[in-house]
Amino acid sequence: VFILAIESSCDDTAAAVLQNDKVLSNVVARQSIHEEYGGVVPELASRAHQQNIVPVIDVALKKANITKDQLSAIAFTQGPGLMGSLLVGSSFAKSLSMALNIPLIAVNHMHAHILAHFIDEEGFDKPTFPFLALTISGGHTQIVKVNDFFNMEIIGETTDDAVGEAFDKTAKILGLPYPGGPLIDQFAKEGNPKKYSFTKPKIAGLDFSFSGLKTQILYFIQKNVAENPNFIEENKADICASVQQIIIDILMDKLRLAVAETGITQIAIGGGVSANSGIRTTLKNAEGKYGWKTFIPKFEYTTDNAAMIGIVGYQKFLHDKFVDQSTVSKARIEF
Ligand code: ATP
Ligand code: FE
Repeated sequence: VFILAIESSCDDTAAAVLQNDKVLSNVVARQSIHEEYGGVVPELASRAHQQNIVPVIDVALKKANITKDQLSAIAFTQGPGLMGSLLVGSSFAKSLSMALNIPLIAVNHMHAHILAHFIDEEGFDKPTFPFLALTISGGHTQIVKVNDFFNMEIIGETTDDAVGEAFDKTAKILGLPYPGGPLIDQFAKEGNPKKYSFTKPKIAGLDFSFSGLKTQILYFIQKNVAENPNFIEENKADICASVQQIIIDILMDKLRLAVAETGITQIAIGGGVSANSGIRTTLKNAEGKYGWKTFIPKFEYTTDNAAMIGIVGYQKFLHDKFVDQSTVSKARIEF
């Protein structure tokens, strides 16, 4: 089975070709245009998708050494995401499936961030059902009980900001370019995570809240900069390390609670923020510390990519879960 997968939910145009559960090619065109605006501008994103989609798909097919007529199905991201961006991917997928007369498969982007763990990769184990997934990305923060490929329930999620926003907004406060998450990660490596302490939000159960932390960080920086204008420059690494640490502590508290409540000790992380090296190390160490089995995705399957759409596409193909041309893109989508 050869699946062509297309992902265009936000600001990255991505295409991948999978042969069953193996990735033959995984191509991403990042849109740098948003950097100067400090965030994703939807109109510019959809325009850039229109420019990128044909070349990105061409490169994905070439790298996979596959021609269009060998394809078994086309999978695309149906949502959640920016409507204008989603429409570029879905329209293209629909036309191609019609032209080639092959099935069309709609994929939920958040399911894909989780199911990326089922891509066949040397050195990476696959979780067995049921397992817990911590999805941490630019727009979401969820703990999901994954019972099967097509049966999962959200047991905890953020009530306001996503973890990725906490990283990106902190970066903005520090004067770093968008998206700042990876930069915080870099600076944190050189810093002392115990230098500054922040308080955890008081939110019961498995839900999260990050907007209070963002305000706390803002006031902390403003106060210190008022006393010393060079505060940020002089302490950047320690600030980044301390912020990253409080975020990790919050995530780990909730994961421990989720394990206690469900009795499930297999934990998989996914989403762009799962690229964070501090989070990856902490999760790895949790295996020895708590007796969990943790699953950390290959780096290229953390931030948005089409390979993760392709693996869901492959599973749906096996189960005849196809859609027709009348399928609509959804900015918000039922889980
Ligand atoms: P969603 O998946 O919720 O729709 P999205 O697709 O925009 O959102 P992803 O591409 O999955 O988001 O993740 C992007 C986020 O990941 C950004 O907030 C970015 O800063 C963050 N991120 C990426 N790498 C790192 C890192 N190393 N450390 C911390 N955050 C990171
Ligand atoms: Fe994403």
